[in-house]
Amino acid sequence: MRKFKLPELPFGQNDLSGFISAETFEYHLGKHHKAYVDKMNDMLEKDSSFGTEPSLEELVMKTQGGLFNQAGQAWNHTFYWHSLAPKNGAPTGDLKTAIDKKFGSVDQFKAQFVEKGMGNFGSGWTWLVKNSKGELDIVNTSNAENPLRQGMTPVLVTDVWEHAYYIDHRNARKAYLDQFVVHINWEFAGKNFGSSEAPNMTQFMV
Ligand code: FE
Repeated sequence: MRKFKLPELPFGQNDLSGFISAETFEYHLGKHHKAYVDKMNDMLEKDSSFGTEPSLEELVMKTQGGLFNQAGQAWNHTFYWHSLAPKNGAPTGDLKTAIDKKFGSVDQFKAQFVEKGMGNFGSGWTWLVKNSKGELDIVNTSNAENPLRQGMTPVLVTDVWEHAYYIDHRNARKAYLDQFVVHINWEFAGKNFGSSEAPNMTQFMV
């Protein structure tokens, strides 16, 4: 059975300091994300129903219960690391056009994204997705859930589990979200928006 690896950050551990510290990455990637990947590998070892080389996307779509929780969290965190950028940028091309059409402006998108994240009760994820009509939406999911399972394509995500922000911002989820929206990897988001396939996180983990 294939063993998935913990992915590498697409930037340095200190590159987002002031927003996300190296200490948070040590815990969030090195302990939380690692535990999800390790537990998923352990469970797959004892389960032959997915063949020898399943993709992580396949596992996210086809598993349930305990294995889904690990596979979902393994995928969501890799997607989250890639949704982050050290520098403030801006959307371009078709994604920019779609944001303006749906939200009025990039600033209004950011305000709505922060508001949606604030309204995500408990542990979960706040996503920008492309829905089945090809339009943008902001959606919340709980625990390990992923919009791929509801026929939507993830464009970008932020983690609103407390472990994502407690070291740097304590209980202030708003302060974390306000910084998230100025640290979006718009190039990554644009690629996801332009693709008809599920974003491929397997490539970073094998
Ligand atoms: Fe997390």
